[in-house]
Amino acid sequence: MKNLPPPSRDSDSSDLRKSVRRYKYRKKWHGHDITDNEVEQIVALYDQYEADSGEASDSLKGERLQQILCEMIHSAYDKTQKKRILYSLRERLFKGVELCPSCGIGAPYELDHHLPRSIFKPLAIHARNLIPMCHPCNNKKKEVFGEEGITGFLHPYYNVLPNVEFLRVVVSIQDEALVVYFSIDTTAALPNGWAEKLLNQFDTLNLDDRYQQEVNTYVTSHAASLHVNYKQSGQEGVRNILLLQSQFETTAFHRNHWRPVLLRALADLDEFTDGGFAVIYPIPESMIEDMES
Ligand SMILES: [Zn+2]
Repeated sequence: MKNLPPPSRDSDSSDLRKSVRRYKYRKKWHGHDITDNEVEQIVALYDQYEADSGEASDSLKGERLQQILCEMIHSAYDKTQKKRILYSLRERLFKGVELCPSCGIGAPYELDHHLPRSIFKPLAIHARNLIPMCHPCNNKKKEVFGEEGITGFLHPYYNVLPNVEFLRVVVSIQDEALVVYFSIDTTAALPNGWAEKLLNQFDTLNLDDRYQQEVNTYVTSHAASLHVNYKQSGQEGVRNILLLQSQFETTAFHRNHWRPVLLRALADLDEFTDGGFAVIYPIPESMIEDMES
């Protein structure tokens, strides 16, 4: 649910030329050398993909193209693996993307075909149809929609999210534990239909459960600073440090990243800021004494 800068299309033609070629296997020639005309046809499909912001359509399936060409491009995707001829494409797509744009939890190690490779074969190595994703997100997406599914997810390169808050979290303290529920605010001022897509994405990727699993480890990493600030400035100190950290993480990640959203909600929870945090995330008495000395 974070936008990524669209990757360059400078290597559109060269990627096709170097990966769609005849090859010799067991003394026989296989495959197909892509012609100039075919390169132009594929690049025209990429242009159409661009114009339609990655929306699915029949023409993007390449039904007017030679079958062998579509099959060759489909299998050329395997050449993006390490030590193979299109590996530089993979490297370029991952460059600078530190967290999975779908969940913001883990690092992206896989490439997702926004329009599935099995149906949209001519787009199999199109840089802008390939989205870096973490394994749990990619896996979940495949599990729910299958290899052939059209997900209706927003496109991280094209569907530029407005600067509004759409990820919500409700926090409370129950039995000396933090209880959190994340959700999508479907009333947020988003373009028509986007809230439904975000909701679909949120549910498919099981994000509420996955964020819940992260919360304690994450808040624990700020426990010492909460205690220090409470000691020094009471509830106001805790609130301020939560908001400051939230601002920092909004800049480092984005407004709807789960961490700054969580921190803002915690800053608003009096029960938490007024000492409640210390019960959930206690520190040893000796450390408190050290702070006092
Ligand atoms: Zn992910």
